[in-house]
Amino acid sequence: MPTLDIQNLQVAIGDKPIVKGLSLTIRSGEVHAIMGPNGTGKSTLAKAIAGHPDYTITGGDVLLDGKSILEMEADERARSGLFLAFQYPSEIPGVTIANFLRAALQARLGEGEEIDATAYYKRLYGKMDMLTIDRKFTSRAVNEGFSGGEKKRCEILQMAMLEPKFALMDETDSGLDIDALRIVSEGVNALRGPGLGVLLITHYQRLLNYIVPDFVHVMYDGRIVKSGDKSLALELEAKGYDWVKKAV
Ligand code: ADP
Ligand code: MG
Repeated sequence: MPTLDIQNLQVAIGDKPIVKGLSLTIRSGEVHAIMGPNGTGKSTLAKAIAGHPDYTITGGDVLLDGKSILEMEADERARSGLFLAFQYPSEIPGVTIANFLRAALQARLGEGEEIDATAYYKRLYGKMDMLTIDRKFTSRAVNEGFSGGEKKRCEILQMAMLEPKFALMDETDSGLDIDALRIVSEGVNALRGPGLGVLLITHYQRLLNYIVPDFVHVMYDGRIVKSGDKSLALELEAKGYDWVKKAV
């Protein structure tokens, strides 16, 4: 069974340690949520796993199906089946969503292999129907003038098309108005299943009312300080993060 294994991971920004020995195993089919107060290193964890150049891994390892991804370039990590939903996706003016997704799929093929246009649109429209996305959406330029909800819709569609083994999603409050919240949760719920593992990073418990996680982890000061099932999220909502800080 596919696993994403984060082993005693340590990440620094410059010479400042941010993630201080974090271990977590995600198996295919599982949805894990990481919660925690601002500044605790959640986004740093996601970006380091994605291979962002500003984040230095100073210790530990990340294994995808037993193989370290740390020496892989970001695009190689993606080809191995890792999907990163970025906190602040950038605009790509003039490039339509349909062409962007096609290029993303094309990038995964070997040399000389071409995506068949008919098959591509069949797959795209199939995924859009599953996610109840209007067909007009794919002729828009990527993220140009998008609302928070539209950015999320683009991200979820990308995830559906790439069919990753593991998806890391970093959700801040800023990206999550009611519309975006609904799109993310409906999308993840439509895509979740035996072939996909999800790591959902969130500051807000509310998201977990819609995407019910199998496991909840609380991150504080660069480490996981508490793990449990979905009831842990409710407990956090009731007691706040001070409760966790005191427990450290
Ligand atoms: P979270 O996502 O849990 O709110 P972050 O991972 O964004 O936390 O931030 C963790 C710590 O790293 C914070 O102290 C933050 O100020 C610092 N940090 C994050 N990004 C950078 C950066 N690009 N340069 C310097 N410090 C950063
Ligand atoms: Mg963050």
